[in-house]
Amino acid sequence: MTIDLRSDTVTKPTKDMLEAMMQAKVGDDVYKEDPTVNVLEERLAKMFGKPKALFFPTGTMANQTAIKLHTNPGDQVICDKDAHIYNYEGGGASFNSGVSCKLLQGHRGMFTAEQVVEALNPPDFYHSPLTALVEVENTANRGGGSCWDFEELKKIKSVCDTNNLGYHLDGARIWNALVSKPETATDYGKLFDTISVCLSKGLGCPIGSVLIGDEALMQHAIRIRKILGGGMRQVGYLAAAGLYALDNNIHRLVDDHNKAKEIGEVLNGLTFIKKVEPVETNIIIFELRQKTDETKFLRLLEANNIRLSGMGQGKLRIVTHLDYTDAMHDRFLSVLRGLKL
Ligand SMILES: *Cc1c(COP(=O)(O)O)cnc(C)c1O
Repeated sequence: MTIDLRSDTVTKPTKDMLEAMMQAKVGDDVYKEDPTVNVLEERLAKMFGKPKALFFPTGTMANQTAIKLHTNPGDQVICDKDAHIYNYEGGGASFNSGVSCKLLQGHRGMFTAEQVVEALNPPDFYHSPLTALVEVENTANRGGGSCWDFEELKKIKSVCDTNNLGYHLDGARIWNALVSKPETATDYGKLFDTISVCLSKGLGCPIGSVLIGDEALMQHAIRIRKILGGGMRQVGYLAAAGLYALDNNIHRLVDDHNKAKEIGEVLNGLTFIKKVEPVETNIIIFELRQKTDETKFLRLLEANNIRLSGMGQGKLRIVTHLDYTDAMHDRFLSVLRGLKL
């Protein structure tokens, strides 16, 4: 039994999901004639209370499209230093949109409206790059699956309105925030100009992300998706996996969160662990007391067929997910409790 806790992207489609995919009615989605993709897009647009949604192969492409929608070359995007768009999209913001990122020193991947006000460049001061977009990530991956305070998101929205800035939500793991916080999808829809969501993280699809926004923005988004090479044909088979996941795999995220909490508690009780970030959703980030122990720790786990990932700067990450079963959980906890470094 291999226990793979590197990411919530390692899940494989279940028999039932594959069955739903096999039954999908398909057509050419570049002509917008794939009925299953159309249903998925309409369903997600409605869920977030926005007019339109667009299916993408990856979250990276959805985020990169959003950045392009809101900016012109030379502009600046405000985001956290730990943001996915800055750290894990291959430098795409500069490559695709010709923009720079103004990095905020947030706390656990989250920043304040006040920090945004301090960071934005006045539009008439032409020496500095023009601030065009504020981007937030919820939950914040490098923040340890942390959930934003909705009141702060509202304050940032009002800064965006005052200063004519776009407001984009990287909601790759918005599902996790939705099940652990009181806000609804439409609450997020009201706040943000564009929202990207992932179907292939917590929801267990093999592939798929969706960008959600208003009519005009999304009309432009289709063109950008085409330019990026993301115009796809009979992808209803993949959209069917998304529909299946929306029906079956959202409510169960609570299980992943409970398991993550238990792992966090066990880690906290181990003498060689220095610090465990508060566990809010399905991600656990922690540090060992001695950086030199890291290789040994990972090797011992590997010997037990347990995999997790290093995040650099002495930080390790565990992510619970759909394919991490109760039996795996029991085994992992007992291995952890018995570890001697
Ligand atoms: C995974 C992820 C994405 C999208 O990644 P893809 O692998 O391109 O689908 C975007 N933002 C965050 C925070 C992520 O964790």
